[in-house]
Amino acid sequence: MTNTNVHDAAIIGAGFGGMGAAIQLGRLGFKDLVILEREDDLGGTWHVNRYPGLAVDIPSSTYSYSFEPNPHWSRLYAPGEELKKYASHVADKYDLRKNMRFNSVVEGAVWDAENEHWTVNIAGGERLHARYLLTATGFLSQPKMPEIDGIETFAGKVIHTTKWDDSYDLAGKKAAVIGTGATAVQLIPEIAPTLAELTVYQRTAIWVTPKSDAKIPKRVRSMYARVPLTQRIVRGFGSGVLEVLMVAAVLKYRRFKMFNKIAERVAKRHMARQIDDPELRKKLTPDYDFGCKRPTFSNDYFKAFTRDNVHLETTSIERIEPDGIVTTDGKKTTIDTLILATGFNLWDVNFPAIEIIGRDGRNLGKWWRDNRFQAYEGVAVPHFPNFLTLASPYSYSGLSYFTTIESQMKHMKRLFGEVSKRRASTFEVTPEANAEFLDRMTEKLEDSVFALGSCSTARSYYFNQHGEAAILRPTSTINAFREAGRFPLEAYRYA
Ligand code: NAP
Repeated sequence: MTNTNVHDAAIIGAGFGGMGAAIQLGRLGFKDLVILEREDDLGGTWHVNRYPGLAVDIPSSTYSYSFEPNPHWSRLYAPGEELKKYASHVADKYDLRKNMRFNSVVEGAVWDAENEHWTVNIAGGERLHARYLLTATGFLSQPKMPEIDGIETFAGKVIHTTKWDDSYDLAGKKAAVIGTGATAVQLIPEIAPTLAELTVYQRTAIWVTPKSDAKIPKRVRSMYARVPLTQRIVRGFGSGVLEVLMVAAVLKYRRFKMFNKIAERVAKRHMARQIDDPELRKKLTPDYDFGCKRPTFSNDYFKAFTRDNVHLETTSIERIEPDGIVTTDGKKTTIDTLILATGFNLWDVNFPAIEIIGRDGRNLGKWWRDNRFQAYEGVAVPHFPNFLTLASPYSYSGLSYFTTIESQMKHMKRLFGEVSKRRASTFEVTPEANAEFLDRMTEKLEDSVFALGSCSTARSYYFNQHGEAAILRPTSTINAFREAGRFPLEAYRYA
């Protein structure tokens, strides 16, 4: 089936990134938008992830759109379902649902040079056309299944944390969790009391610092609703602290590595307060610098390992059998439930998440892999006209995904403003502007913990297959916002 109508824009992904882009395009006067979403509802990561213990770990006042504050967060760090509710509220308030098409799995998009539009191929054979293509497919949207011998022979229940089965009762089960990333840190303390036995398979330990979480009293919430400025002040303060920590401990490691050392001491003391056994503490202590891998926050992760029914296994997994896991020392642990907290595949399949073919047949994924991962200001790539990639190399502001989205919205405003002023049909970033940006980001990374810290054992997804930490934009958020509003207009060619 072919639809000959050419939409103003096709946005791929109905998470916060896609919704932010749709809001901005709406403000710029584009009316015919289509938002394609592979899941059956909106919310992106906050729709897909529903595992027990899910919550934000950046203060909620910061982890939300600045133009759409939410006075109703119940805690400083809101639980996952409140984020999903917030996403629905935004979709309703900005009337985005009418543009959304769920269960629409986009297989690829091809630039049609003759007609100056994108052709988007949807699973099932449907095609649609749009003048602009914006991909907002997130950074953590392709779940990683571990390649472990025999995993397919396991006869019990297998659950990846992105596909939580609410109907499955964990009570009295003998479970294993593979993985000790941010997801496992939230999940393990939640499920441990319900299970008969829980064995946690840790390959790489993670830095965990305390989480200063608390309920937000009703009177404070109603004050936020009545006087939004009060919540803005809280947001400003929280964002300011995070920004300083991010810039100092991650980006300016050369000068400020004492911040990382302090954070390591805080994490170790946090662990020592909850675990007496020095052997267990040693196993849970990372051997890489704080900041190499995304640190996590929890007040009950370490405590969970002091329970009689929770066991930490640090010997490597050799194979999985129908009824258990065998480690390389020959020990077998019998289980009936296998929980995979094994994270996401970013570099092989997420950049980009779909096949994108630009001008002269250039394949974005292949080009990124054969050359280097790169995107001008984290949004545009040469040879890909009328295309903005919102989950790109060097786009992620470490502060909060919402600052990434909002700086990209600002970039869109300036770019589309110029396109409209010139009455251009196409825009495309120049190779020179792109190269200058990549050189600048590469140089800035030289001061970061990724270049100077001891990161080789961290196995961090921040690093790609070429050993480059190419996700985070290695500048302050202030710089990202400033450049989004002032980038040289001649960085793009307009035709
Ligand atoms: P992750 O950080 O990538 O952790 C995956 C874990 O699985 C790691 O411990 C990894 O070990 C382990 N693993 C993977 N394959 C394995 C294998 N074959 N054998 C043994 N272990 C294996 O994934 P995640 O915990 O889902 O977190 C991903 C990101 O999601 C976080 O960094 C964060 O950005 C985001 N997140 C955010 C929140 C929030 O509160 N906002 C909550 C959860 C997640 P290695 O380290 O050795 O590879």
